[in-house]
Amino acid sequence: MTASEILPLVDRFRAVVGAANALTEPADTTRYLVEERGLYFGRTPVVLRPGSVAEVQAIARLAHETGTPLVPQGGNTGLVGGGVPDESGHEVVVSLERLDRIRDVDPAGNTMTVEAGVVLDTVHRAAEEADRLFPLTLGSQGSCRIGGNISTNAGGTAVLAYGNTRDLVLGLEVVLADGRLWNGLRRLRKDNTGYDLKHLFIGAEGTLGIITAAVLKLLPRPKSVAVAYAGVASPEAALRLLAVARNHAGPALTGFELIARIGIEFAVRHIAGAREPLGQPSPWYVLIEVSSGGGDAGTMLEAILAEAFESGDVDDAVIASNLEQTAAFWRLRHDMSEVQKFEGGSIKHDISVPVSLVPAFIEEASAAVVALLPGARPVPFGHLGDGNIHYNVSQPVGADKAAFLRRWGEVNAVVHGIVTRLGGSISAEHGIGRLKRDLLAAVKDPVEMDMMRAIKAALDPKGILNPGRVL
Ligand SMILES: Cc1cc2nc3c(=O)[nH]c(=O)nc-3n(C[C@H](O)[C@H](O)[C@H](O)COP(=O)(O)OP(=O)(O)OC[C@H]3O[C@@H](n4cnc5c(N)ncnc54)[C@H](O)[C@@H]3O)c2cc1C
Repeated sequence: MTASEILPLVDRFRAVVGAANALTEPADTTRYLVEERGLYFGRTPVVLRPGSVAEVQAIARLAHETGTPLVPQGGNTGLVGGGVPDESGHEVVVSLERLDRIRDVDPAGNTMTVEAGVVLDTVHRAAEEADRLFPLTLGSQGSCRIGGNISTNAGGTAVLAYGNTRDLVLGLEVVLADGRLWNGLRRLRKDNTGYDLKHLFIGAEGTLGIITAAVLKLLPRPKSVAVAYAGVASPEAALRLLAVARNHAGPALTGFELIARIGIEFAVRHIAGAREPLGQPSPWYVLIEVSSGGGDAGTMLEAILAEAFESGDVDDAVIASNLEQTAAFWRLRHDMSEVQKFEGGSIKHDISVPVSLVPAFIEEASAAVVALLPGARPVPFGHLGDGNIHYNVSQPVGADKAAFLRRWGEVNAVVHGIVTRLGGSISAEHGIGRLKRDLLAAVKDPVEMDMMRAIKAALDPKGILNPGRVL
């Protein structure tokens, strides 16, 4: 597209949302063009901020007519380049942030109907006000938006007990690529009337439609919550602790996070107020959370730790004694995403393997990465209970950051090779976006790739929704 073609088009889009919500000045648009890791610096002719579903439809209709690529965006906390425009300067950003109404809360039916732009924290608070729980829990929950959570099928720290976002959605409202509206806002727990289409849009990363609203599942609020840090000698010991915790707590086990010692060292070194969780350093740490609707969570957690002490799997443990300490324990875990940037370059992996193979994965990957890049510092942490490890690799101390990051592809190849051999996934949580698009065909069954392409062609025949992402 040339500048003389783009300018009249921008005017037509501006007419849909009004001048105040069609942003073109760099001072206004920059925050929509770059995501947290700064891997991509996009360009756009205009950022549109529709204020109603009808406006989203009008945008899609115009884009369909003119073949204009659209990039839906929620809170822009995605980490794979899916929600920011590419460098062409042709992709129009559609920010859903003004669609931020909670349309309905139904405590008796345990549902909440929200628009796509509602921030996850706001969903939590609205559920709490109705004495209910919406359990999706992410480090980014102060800024990510529910439409983005659904489009990435976000995971987080409570998947163990409550499932991924996919398990927490009952219905969707979606603007299709041609501007038609699919009203699938059903509040039903049972509905076997053909294909369950909402699942196509959940985790589609904005490539199949623009989600404008959703019906979310609510749950009872736990009566008591207890959190502890346990020091363990190895990921194998952590896995045995997981079995003990599951036996005692069953579905009340709501968090089980593994952190390597190096992650705690980074946090204590760089984050103001971050403190060692245990009296003595431990090679590995497990953050355990028990949330109970019946018996006392603290008693359950004590029983878990007592058995693990007895068997020798836990060397040391501290149970949070108040809400402030509970928050500090979780903050330390959530700091893991942040702290690596203070140690220079970090090459990221967001992988999953069968839960029982996590120790083998960590051992093999660490040996292979250090053999490839002597001095490189693996910083594995994450959701052991889900088999999902953020296997990040920090640069050797004193190395040149840019030179280290140039090895990104090689390190990925080594780590993903091990993941594939162990029957795992190269993207457990964050999605494919642009970052892993070219890796996908190599790890997916060709028949699966064909089915995905057929679905894309059926729902977005002109390829205007998030082109170049996922497929
Ligand atoms: C500190 C930090 C911690 C994180 N922790 C986790 C974690 O524990 N687990 C996890 O899964 N992720 C995590 N993430 C990643 C990120 O927060 C999630 O992927 C989140 O769900 C993205 O939501 P968002 O609103 O920011 O989406 P965006 O970044 O705006 O968009 C993400 C993708 O969804 C598409 N999209 C957004 N809104 C819509 C819509 N309404 N309709 C159609 N497509 C849309 C975009 O085009 C893009 O492809 C973390 C990120 C950060 C920065």
